[in-house]
Amino acid sequence: MSNAILVVGGGFSGLTAAIEAAELGHDVYIVEKSPWLGGRVAQLNKYFPKLCPPSCGLEIQFQRIRKNPLIHCLTMAQVVGLSGSKGNYTARIRLEPRRTPSHNVDFTFMASALDGERDSEFDLGLGKRKALYKAMPFAYPARYVLDTETLSKADMARLAGNAQLDFNEKAREIDVQVGSIVIATGWKPYDVTRLSNLGAGSVKNCISNMQLERLASPFGPTQGKIVRPTDGTTPHRVAFVQCAGSRDQNHLNYCSYICCMATLKHCLYFAEQHPDTQITVFYIDLRAPGRYVKVLEKVQALPNVHFIKGKVANVVQAKGDTCEIQAEDAIRGEKLTLTYDMVVLATGMQPTLATEKLPLPVPLDADGFIAGGEEAGIFAAGCCVMPLDVTRSAQSGTAAALKAVQTVKGR
Ligand code: SF4
Repeated sequence: MSNAILVVGGGFSGLTAAIEAAELGHDVYIVEKSPWLGGRVAQLNKYFPKLCPPSCGLEIQFQRIRKNPLIHCLTMAQVVGLSGSKGNYTARIRLEPRRTPSHNVDFTFMASALDGERDSEFDLGLGKRKALYKAMPFAYPARYVLDTETLSKADMARLAGNAQLDFNEKAREIDVQVGSIVIATGWKPYDVTRLSNLGAGSVKNCISNMQLERLASPFGPTQGKIVRPTDGTTPHRVAFVQCAGSRDQNHLNYCSYICCMATLKHCLYFAEQHPDTQITVFYIDLRAPGRYVKVLEKVQALPNVHFIKGKVANVVQAKGDTCEIQAEDAIRGEKLTLTYDMVVLATGMQPTLATEKLPLPVPLDADGFIAGGEEAGIFAAGCCVMPLDVTRSAQSGTAAALKAVQTVKGR
């Protein structure tokens, strides 16, 4: 029997679950597939309810992790097998090679001298990264990754013989013994290129709401300036297309819960940075639950923000890399054709497990959300259960941790 707990996923809900369980005296293994903890929240510019930068809330979590020797962080790691039963599981974890020292070494200067680069996964394709990289200054663990596939020949020559880099490090597998499991595998933005009529991936300056977060972030590809990706100019006319992929039986057959609030937040980003920009929000319904109605009222009062109730039929390329929107104004009963400098698609939340398999015995519903597994001592937290905002994700992490603790304590 083991009283250790495995947490799969190092986003906000997973971190919360891990910290709560460890602070109750349990060994916890966090298994995170990316090189750093923080999940989707780390990619945001600001998050509700207080519109803090992610470094704020995450840094508190990282401090608690640093201080707690019971928490074992396994990054660039995935669960590849599970045997045993409730109270006595053996999880097999695969660790990908990081090729940099286990302590924090600042490779900023060395990385900037490299010429090989590729699209940054963290910046959602809006910027480039080098072969030796760290996604954000507040990354935890504060370690670089060496991605040998991105090195140019000249880079190989530059780095050859550097004793701090281990070109020979290979992937390896380890086993951990745990009594219960928390799954917090989170979500990903729905792939809106599947909605060919909305222009994602084909119409220049048509971006997703998560890409706008990267543009607005001081650690993003434009150092926080919200500009058009094609020419770096200020967008003077911007449209938001709500429910891009959500509430559609051919795509995400549910409301993604966060994307109305995300758009309201983005209107506030514009009000702060480009107060003269004219904004149109095309919506079906505006959902601002609970106290968030105050944010809706604040944005509705902005003189430059206009709301049109109606579905967008098409987003197509127009002159000068502008975007033409063909839509319906459902209240006036008019068909509209309008041109914008930039279009932002309010893409929905898809559970990661809808497209990525996890070798754990948990049932999924038709949309890929976890729907059960508790009888096996496996508890789901955060957006792998349903669309949630950050506050509710954290609450869900706490709830899952308490159930996981009760499972191992009760045996
Ligand atoms: Fe549509 Fe708003 Fe629901 Fe998102 S939160 S799916 S934009 S109604």
